[in-house]
Amino acid sequence: MSNCAIVGINWGDEGKGRIVDLITQDYDIVIRYQGGGNAGHTVVNDLGKFALHLLPSGIFRDGVVNILGNGVALDCENLWREMEDVESKGVKITPDNLKISERASLLLPWHRELDALEETRLKDQKYGSTKQGIAPFYSDKYRKKTIMAGELFYPEYLQARLKNILEWENLILENIYHAPVWSMDKILNWLEEYGGKIRPFICDTGVFLKDSIKQDKNILFEAQLGALRDLDYGIYPYTTSSNAIAAYAPVGSGLPGIKINKIIGVVKAYSTCAGEGPFVCELFGEEADKLREAGHEYGAKTGRPRRVGPIDIPATRYGVRVQNANSIALTKLDILSYLDKIPVCTRYKIKNQETEEFPFPALLNQAEPVIEYLPGWRRDISGVRSWDDLPKEARDYINYIESKIGADIHYISVGPERDAIILK
Ligand code: GDP
Ligand code: MG
Repeated sequence: MSNCAIVGINWGDEGKGRIVDLITQDYDIVIRYQGGGNAGHTVVNDLGKFALHLLPSGIFRDGVVNILGNGVALDCENLWREMEDVESKGVKITPDNLKISERASLLLPWHRELDALEETRLKDQKYGSTKQGIAPFYSDKYRKKTIMAGELFYPEYLQARLKNILEWENLILENIYHAPVWSMDKILNWLEEYGGKIRPFICDTGVFLKDSIKQDKNILFEAQLGALRDLDYGIYPYTTSSNAIAAYAPVGSGLPGIKINKIIGVVKAYSTCAGEGPFVCELFGEEADKLREAGHEYGAKTGRPRRVGPIDIPATRYGVRVQNANSIALTKLDILSYLDKIPVCTRYKIKNQETEEFPFPALLNQAEPVIEYLPGWRRDISGVRSWDDLPKEARDYINYIESKIGADIHYISVGPERDAIILK
C-alpha cells in the first residue's frame, strides 16, 4: 500500500487538478478531504475540458474509486449539477466509482445566502468569498448546527435535529441580516430533491477504506486551495474556513492516524491569487496583463481575473514547510516562454529590513517584494518531454527555485494536457 497527498503550496489554482489527473493512474482511490464547491480544478483529457468543484479528479479514470470524505462541505445541489455535467460528457458515475462519507456534513442552501449577506455587510472589508457558503457552513459544523449526510437515512431523527437548526438559522437571517427566513417545508423539499439524488452514493467510507488498506490499495488525497489559504497556517482572515494542508488529509478522509508517504506540493512557475488578501509579489499594469493573458488566469469557478506576480520564494518556501511536501510539481512553466527575463520575488522588505521568511499576516501589508531577474529562454517549450531537451535557461530557473524552496522538483508541467509533463 502506498499513499500520497497532492496539495497546493501557494494561494491555490496551482494546477492540482491537472497533477491529480496525471498521478491517478498509479492509485486505486482518490479522496477529497476538505472544502466544498468553492474551488475549481481544471482537468483536460480525451473527453474534454472539465472544471471540477467537488468531484475528485479521479472520476475520469476507469477503476478508480472516488471518495468525498467527512471533511468536505457537501453541497448536494451543486454536486448533483456537477455530476450531471460530467455524465453528459460520457463519464459514468455510479456508487461503485463515487462514494460519499455518511459523516460528511451538508452545506445547506442558507449557508450560501448567509455567505453573500455577510460579504455585502462587510463592504470593502469583504473576505473575497466565492459565496458558496463555505464560511457559514464550517462555522455551523463546528457549532453543531448542520446535519450529516448519513442522517438522510433517518428521517425522524433528521427532522427533530432540523427543527432546532432551522430555528437558529432563522434567528440569524431575520435579526442580523433582516433577510427572508426558511420554512420547514421548504428545507425538507430541498433535502428530498437533492439529498435524494445523492443518497445512493452515501455509505460508511471508513469501513470501505479500512478494507481497501487490507487489500493493499493505493490511496491519493486531493486538496482544494493552497497552503496560504489554510485556516490555521494561511493569510488569516483571507483564508478558507477549513484546513487545506496535507496534515488534515487523514482526519478529513476517514483514515485518521494514517501516515502519508508522499506529499506532492504543486507550485506554479509564477504566482496567482484569486480574491482578496495581501499578495506581496503582485504585478500591476501592462506587465500583469501580459502574464494574466499568457496564463489564461481567470477563475475556473467565478471567471474573475486572477491577480498575478512572479514566483514568490518566501511564500513558496513557507508553503512547502507547512505542507511538509517532499516532492514538488512545478506547473505552467510554458507560460513564461514569452519573457526576455524572468522576475523572481526573492525576499520581502519590511520596514527597511529584508527577510526571506514569510511574515505573520499582520505584517504582510507592509511587506514589499524584492525582485531579481533570471534569463528567459524565449522559445516554445510546450512540446518538450525530457529534462535534457529543456533550454538551459529553463533548467537554470527550475534549479534556482529548487535550491530556494526546500524540496526537490520531480515533475515539470509544460501544458494542461495529461502528457505535457517532464520528469526530473
Ligand atoms: P487547481 O485549482 O490547482 O486545480 O488549478 P486550476 O485548474 O484552477 O488552474 C490551473 C489552470 O492551468 C487550468 O486551466 C489548467 O488546465 C492549466 N494548467 C495546468 N498545468 C498547466 C501547464 O503546465 N501549462 C499550461 N499552459 N496550463 C496548465
Ligand atoms: Mg482552482
